Amino acid sequence: MDRDKKRFEQELAALLSEAQIKREEPLSRHTTFRVGGAAEYLLTPNIGQIPEVVALCRRFRLPLVIIGNGSNLLVSDEGLRGVVLEMGKCASGIRVEGTTLFAQAGTLLSETANTAARCGLSGMEFAAGIPGSVGGAVVMNAGAYGGEMKDILTGVRVLTKSGQVIDRKAEELELSYRHSRMMREKELVLEAVLSLGPGDEAEIRGRMEELKEKRVAKQPLEYPSAGSTFKRPEGYFAGKLIEEAGLRGFRVGDAQVSEKHCGFVINRGAACAADIIELMQQVRGRVKEMSGVELEPEVRLLGFSGDAGLG
Ligand SMILES: Cc1cc2nc3c(=O)[nH]c(=O)nc-3n(C[C@H](O)[C@H](O)[C@H](O)COP(=O)(O)OP(=O)(O)OC[C@H]3O[C@@H](n4cnc5c(N)ncnc54)[C@H](O)[C@@H]3O)c2cc1C
Repeated sequence: MDRDKKRFEQELAALLSEAQIKREEPLSRHTTFRVGGAAEYLLTPNIGQIPEVVALCRRFRLPLVIIGNGSNLLVSDEGLRGVVLEMGKCASGIRVEGTTLFAQAGTLLSETANTAARCGLSGMEFAAGIPGSVGGAVVMNAGAYGGEMKDILTGVRVLTKSGQVIDRKAEELELSYRHSRMMREKELVLEAVLSLGPGDEAEIRGRMEELKEKRVAKQPLEYPSAGSTFKRPEGYFAGKLIEEAGLRGFRVGDAQVSEKHCGFVINRGAACAADIIELMQQVRGRVKEMSGVELEPEVRLLGFSGDAGLG
């Protein structure tokens, strides 16, 4: 081990327990696509530990990537050098004050929506079936069935690139379709403030169940995926364009355009990231040829050079 690495590890050990530090951890274990090479370090700090851990990585000039539940990620087969900071169980927790919900970034959306339902708070039903964390959902401005995070988010606590922890109001966050200021500025979301309304628990749960049934009926949930692979181009649906290009079921190795929902690329079992990228490139080319529409990935690419031919 070189001297710098040894010093980094010594300082890291003073901040985190051994259980919070993984070395050469396969990221296929941390993404819903079930693909991706190893992270040199995968760290799981709690919210209070994050600023110091990030400062340490910066001091040692280590590349740093933040992940949530890994449900919108495609990680290269080569993996990631440097540090992956996972906002998971260690960074999760919910506090309810009246109709306001304070959720730490690593809390799962499903858990947050369930807490809201239990407290008779309505507004999060749309998000209950999105398999992401609160932080990932805020950064992506995740949405479904007519709702999006923008509708319920009133503020966030972020760690800025200069290492400050600050609170920002929703109006400052540039929330739009699958976009946010935090995505643009590469800021780390620590906590989200969600404003909900009073509701009836049975009705809220009924709506959540109804949306869950729609998902099960329409989406290939039986296979690993990262949800919708491409963004919805204005005036079109990506899945419909892909289907019309004759690509339902199209395969590269074990990566496949879902037969159930052409907007999803699925991993039939043994796909690697290179198969998925190749499939995405071919789909993009064929759709462009057939309809003139350029598909843009919704899935976030990590560890590829440039835009992996998908920009
Ligand atoms: C079966 C399935 C169905 C899906 N359905 C939907 C849907 O209906 N609607 C929808 O919008 N999405 C959907 N998705 C995609 C995905 O669940 C969402 O984009 C989700 O918000 C991603 O959250 P995550 O925690 O998994 O983030 P990740 O995938 O881990 O990360 C996504 C991006 O957010 C960044 N990030 C994550 N956490 C933080 C943080 N705390 N601070 C700063 N940056 C952070 C990452 O760097 C990355 O750029 C679906 C995915 C699957 C697999």
